[in-house]
Amino acid sequence: MFNSLSDRLTQTFKNLRTRGRLSEADIDGTVREIRRALLDADVAVPVVREFTAAVRERALSAEVSGALNPAQQVVKIVNDELVEILGGQTRPLSLAKTPPTVIMLAGLQGAGKTTLAGKLALALKGQGHTPLLVAADLQRPNAVNQLSVVGERAGVPVYAPHPGNTSSADDPALDAPLIGDPVAVARDGVAHARAKLHDVVIVDTAGRLGIDEVLMKQAADIRAAVTPDEVLFVIDAMIGQDAVNTAKAFADGVDFTGVVLSKLDGDARGGAALSVAKVTGRPIMFASTGEKLTDFEVFHPDRMASRILD
Ligand code: GDP
Repeated sequence: MFNSLSDRLTQTFKNLRTRGRLSEADIDGTVREIRRALLDADVAVPVVREFTAAVRERALSAEVSGALNPAQQVVKIVNDELVEILGGQTRPLSLAKTPPTVIMLAGLQGAGKTTLAGKLALALKGQGHTPLLVAADLQRPNAVNQLSVVGERAGVPVYAPHPGNTSSADDPALDAPLIGDPVAVARDGVAHARAKLHDVVIVDTAGRLGIDEVLMKQAADIRAAVTPDEVLFVIDAMIGQDAVNTAKAFADGVDFTGVVLSKLDGDARGGAALSVAKVTGRPIMFASTGEKLTDFEVFHPDRMASRILD
């Protein structure tokens, strides 16, 4: 991801390096190249517009300082603005004062929610937490089984409706309701976590192939039933321009608190990743970078910006 964008920006800056003081025309030329590179990388148009306007204004008003030559100054400005559109600072998970912390996952089918549930559970377990996974995705017949498999791989118990309940013997979830009502499963799962002293509950929810009212209503109903501390919107970074509309629809329909970018290991152009935080006003909190449960990282806007400008 970002290889092409990265190459384009690096080339733009290379052209600048040969110059001394930058004229307004130099800056405009550079900003034009940056604009093209961002658009070609599928960054959303309003984000590109705001980004390039900010870069231009800052570059024009930049004082010639001793430490950086004009080209380096432009690189620094672009870096700062990239960090800004990626959300500024790393935002850690907010944990409930009184456990359990409830984390709900939302997103389209195939976005990577179930995989993410396992990744997050494994990471939290590694930090000494005692997570419980709750299988409230009853949309696809295999979703419950898939979460059970993920839970097993992570060594984390799963609260699941029958059948598909493969919770470990020391944490039997035999009181789970039958497959049917995902809102009830989510609510009972959280109650189960409280009773069994799990300090974090991760609720996996159903996605669909596209945005629709039934999906949004179900997600909103689950949100209302479990009053989560975090609602993480999982988005496949490979879906390009569609990412922005999808993210907006989920922001309106479910009102998530943070974004997880999945499939950042792919070779898509990366614009989705660069647009979603800015367009929704919600921070990117984690990145998923592969199919293994350990392919997971806390998202650092500054590191991502450096990677792009490397
Ligand atoms: P869900 O429908 O949102 O629960 O999505 P899944 O977790 O089932 O993921 C859909 C597919 O994407 C599966 O084949 C996963 O193995 C794969 N997947 C999930 N996250 C990643 C990732 O970060 N990178 C790659 N390459 N594949 C992923």
